[in-house]
Amino acid sequence: MNIGVLALQGAVAEHIRSIELAGGRGVAVKRVEQLAEIDGLIIPGGESTTIGKLMRKYGFIEAIQDYAAQGKPVFGTCAGLILLAERLEGDEEPHLRLMDMTVARNAFGRQRESFETDLDVKGIDTPLRAVFIRAPLIKEVGEKVEVLSVYQGEIVTARQGNLLASSYHPELTDDYRLHELFIRMAQERGQ
Ligand code: GLN
Repeated sequence: MNIGVLALQGAVAEHIRSIELAGGRGVAVKRVEQLAEIDGLIIPGGESTTIGKLMRKYGFIEAIQDYAAQGKPVFGTCAGLILLAERLEGDEEPHLRLMDMTVARNAFGRQRESFETDLDVKGIDTPLRAVFIRAPLIKEVGEKVEVLSVYQGEIVTARQGNLLASSYHPELTDDYRLHELFIRMAQERGQ
């Protein structure tokens, strides 16, 4: 499976490494035309405001909306999750508006800017190592969204059909099982 990583800003190389550990082929996506060549797309962590601006500038908003509408899988991690959300808390403009959820940015506050933990994730048999960095939280989800994990009562992993989202960075550890799950989503779609 060719899995693209949106390479405008953020943790691109780390995702490519995890994709390859999970048995896929990682591709840095810098131009919209490249979307035609990949079986799934990861939107990485970084700074959602910056990535959002660059997405608008290079035509990625509509291109990714079309890509997802074709049933192709899209996985947003941390800032990527913010970019997928239909609604953001506060008066912030949402970006791709693909996933039926309300997201709060920087939801852990200054005291807990970054930390690691082991998370129970539906579909993964033992706890997943997760790194949270100025992480967002999913505050509310619509009917079509399946909650895959909860941390201290808050939703941190979710799936809506071909869309997957995590509040944390699954690419900063050697635990690549969420990437494996995403590659399986791409394989299922191809069949
Ligand atoms: N706080 C960042 C944002 O709002 C996300 C942080 C991250 O991706 N690690 O975009």
